[in-house]
Amino acid sequence: MLEAPAHRRHTLGDRQGGSGPTMIVMTGLHGNEPAGGRAARRVLARLEREGLEINGRFVVLAGNLRALAAGIRFLDCDLNRQWTQERVAELQNQALNDAEATEQRELLAAIREVANQSTGPVYFLDLHTTSAVGPPFVTVGDTLRNREFARSFPLPLIFGLEEQVDGALLEYLNNFGLITLGAEAGQHDCDRSVDRLEALMWLALRSAGLLAPDAVEGRVYAGVLREASRGVPRVIEVRYRHAIDDQDGFEMLPGFHNFAPVEKGQVVARDRNGPIHARESGLILLPLYQGKGEDGFFIARPLRTFWLYLSAFLRRLRIGAFLHWLPGVHCSRDQRLELTIDTRIARWYPLEVFHLFGYRKRRRTGDTLIVTRRAFDSNEPETTRL
Ligand SMILES: [Zn+2]
Repeated sequence: MLEAPAHRRHTLGDRQGGSGPTMIVMTGLHGNEPAGGRAARRVLARLEREGLEINGRFVVLAGNLRALAAGIRFLDCDLNRQWTQERVAELQNQALNDAEATEQRELLAAIREVANQSTGPVYFLDLHTTSAVGPPFVTVGDTLRNREFARSFPLPLIFGLEEQVDGALLEYLNNFGLITLGAEAGQHDCDRSVDRLEALMWLALRSAGLLAPDAVEGRVYAGVLREASRGVPRVIEVRYRHAIDDQDGFEMLPGFHNFAPVEKGQVVARDRNGPIHARESGLILLPLYQGKGEDGFFIARPLRTFWLYLSAFLRRLRIGAFLHWLPGVHCSRDQRLELTIDTRIARWYPLEVFHLFGYRKRRRTGDTLIVTRRAFDSNEPETTRL
């Protein structure tokens, strides 16, 4: 008998029926976050038990298997920071041999196999939990299609997290036109995190059309999420990331939870150089209370929904195509979706202007700012091919 390909080890469930869209759910990309897998097993068990019909294809993957077995975030490197085009290219050359490279090769094969067989839109959910206590929220790479899907969930919506970190899985997938959503459900080992992720999956299946609207108790599940995130602003933009490495001796001061307010100048953490002050006032996001990680904390602030409407309006008009007519703004020659901005000349258009048109900051060197736009903002790819 032929042995199954190695990447199939990651498949927790695969249900198909009808000709609807495809939904892939990633669980346990961080090995110390078992809640996603537990929630997905509940969903799969109920689909089976009640014989609920799936219209399309619903696939659940387990992420970092070896880290999950060890109960730690990762072995050699964070598997949710490795999805750059350069690293993925290296993977194919078999040149990489860190512990996560094997996991990543297998996951890429698993995702490709499902996504490339799809005929309609492909939805991708990435389920996470946090080391700190706090209400659940969803994170969105800012495309109009992602925004539209995110509206299915009565949860705070966070923009700009992917702009602060390189190599997140969802950002890699956005570039192929998948509709993506990241979820943070609460603390790692809390049973309520499992309940919330289960609720989120049922709502996702309904809203994407893989389940009939009356198949499950949508109002009950929406209630679970609404109740858990009560009092948190609905739309939030990440403004700052405190990057750390192993040598920093970073230590978050106790008592910060997700969305805890901070004032500019307030001491929020310390490292071997002394106290660390908040760069600006806002809300603390993802404070690090575990040994491993490259992000100490983020600072975010509420965004008025007016800006979302305005930016959707401007983007549908496709005015963004003319941004390079502005003084100091140039199209990059080889990259259709990239703008180079000379900030000495274009100093009057802050980054927010480019955000409005769906651009994200890539890097700043001296007076030059590079921003890029995602390929599938409002349009769907004809076929999904990773
Ligand atoms: Zn995580």
